[in-house]
Amino acid sequence: MASIHDNIERAIEEATRPARQGMGTRAVHGGVNRQNPYHALTTPLVQTATYTFKNTADLCAYMESHLWGGDENREEYGRYGNPTIAAAEARLAALEGADAAVLYSSGMAAITSLLLTVLKNGQHIVMTDDCYRRTRQFCRVFLAKYGVETSVVPMGDYEALEAAIIPNKTRFIISETPTNPYLRVADLARIAEIGQRHQILTMIDSTFATPINLRPLEHGIDFVVHSATKYLGGHNDVLAGVICGERGKMAALKASRGMFGNLPDPQAAWLIERGIKTLGVRVRQQNETALAVARFLEQHPKIERVWYPGLESHPDHAAAVRQMSGFGGVVSFEIAGDLDDTSLFIDRCRIPYIGPSLGGVESLIEQPSLVSYYELSTAERLAIGIKDNLVRFAVGIEDTEDILADLENALEGVPNRRLERDWEKRFRH
Ligand SMILES: *Cc1c(COP(=O)(O)O)cnc(C)c1O
Repeated sequence: MASIHDNIERAIEEATRPARQGMGTRAVHGGVNRQNPYHALTTPLVQTATYTFKNTADLCAYMESHLWGGDENREEYGRYGNPTIAAAEARLAALEGADAAVLYSSGMAAITSLLLTVLKNGQHIVMTDDCYRRTRQFCRVFLAKYGVETSVVPMGDYEALEAAIIPNKTRFIISETPTNPYLRVADLARIAEIGQRHQILTMIDSTFATPINLRPLEHGIDFVVHSATKYLGGHNDVLAGVICGERGKMAALKASRGMFGNLPDPQAAWLIERGIKTLGVRVRQQNETALAVARFLEQHPKIERVWYPGLESHPDHAAAVRQMSGFGGVVSFEIAGDLDDTSLFIDRCRIPYIGPSLGGVESLIEQPSLVSYYELSTAERLAIGIKDNLVRFAVGIEDTEDILADLENALEGVPNRRLERDWEKRFRH
C-alpha cells in the first residue's frame, strides 16, 4: 500500500511549480500517484482502523524512523493517518498551491483545531464580521473560557482591523471571502500585509470561493480553510474540512489531529477526493449561472437589491475582480416585500430544494432570517444585518436557462409591492 504515497511529494512539487497546469487539470491530476495497486485508475479506499508489522524487526525499524521525523509512507494506527486521506490531502495541497494539507471530519473541526492548536491563554484574535456563525461563536464564547479574547471588526474596514491589534497579544487575524450571506470580499493582500507587519498569523475561510476562483496563499495568507462539505465534495453527501499551508506550520496540525481524533473516516476522504475531480467543471458552470441569475434579478422590478461580487453594484466588486477568476455560485438578494412575500417566492421555486448548505450539484435556496436566525425577532435580525426579505440562492449545476425560467415563474406569483407603494404615494399626494 505504500505505493499510494510514493509520488505524492514529487506530484505536489510539479503541481506547484510556477509554470503549472490549469485548475481543472489540477483538480483531476494534482497530487495523484499514477501507480496505484493493481494499476487501478482510482484511489484505493483503504478502510482500516490499524496497520500491521511483518515482525518485531519491522516494528522497530518503523519506530526508529518515526523518532527521526517519520516515514510518510507508513502509518501505525488509524487516528494518525490513512493513505486515502493522504491522497485527498495531496490533491487539495496541489489545488491551493500549498506545501501540505490536513483533512478533518468537518469544516468546523478544521477551524476549531487550527485555533486550539496555535492559540494559548492570554492571546487575542481579530475577526471580521459577516463571519460563519459557528466560527464567531467558537471564538467569542468557547475560546473565551480559555482566556482567548476576540475582537470583531467591520468587513472592509482595514483601519479598524489594524487598530484592533493588541501588541504582544494578538496572534490571529481571521476572515472569510466571499462571506455569507452578503458575499463581501476581503482584500487578501492587505490583510496579509497587516499580518506580516505585526507578525500575526492570518487565516482565510475560502469555502465560498473554492481554489478554482481564488487561492489565498498566493496573496500571502498563512492558512486557508475550507468546509469541504460544500464545493470540494460537491454532492451534498459528505462532511469534511481542510486546512492548507506551509509544511512547517502544518506539522503541528497533523500532530494535534492525532490527539483530537477528528480526522475523516477513509470513506469520507475517498468521496472528497472523488468529488474534487469535477470541481473545475462544476465551479465554472456555477460561476456562469450565478452571474446570469444576479444580472437577471438586478433588473427585475420585484427585487429590491442583489448581492453578488460579480456585479458592478457590489461594494467589493473591485477587490473581487482583482483577486478572483470567477465570482462563485452563491447569489443573495432582497425581495421587494416582507417575510411572507419572501417565503411565498421560495415556496414557488421548483428547481432548488429548500435547505441550508451550498456548493453541491443541486441548487439550494433559503431565507437566512428563518434558517439561521429563526429565534430572533425582525428588529433583532435587522440589528445584526439580516433582513426578513433576504434570500440566499446557492446554484447547482442545472442548466442556466432552466434556473432563470424557474426564478421568473416564482417571481410572477409574488405581489408587486413596489407598484403598490408607488400607487399609495400617488393617491396620498
Ligand atoms: C459550512 C461552512 C463552515 C462549516 O463547515 P462544516 O463542514 O459544516 O463543519 C465553515 N465556513 C463556511 C464559510 C461554511 O459555509
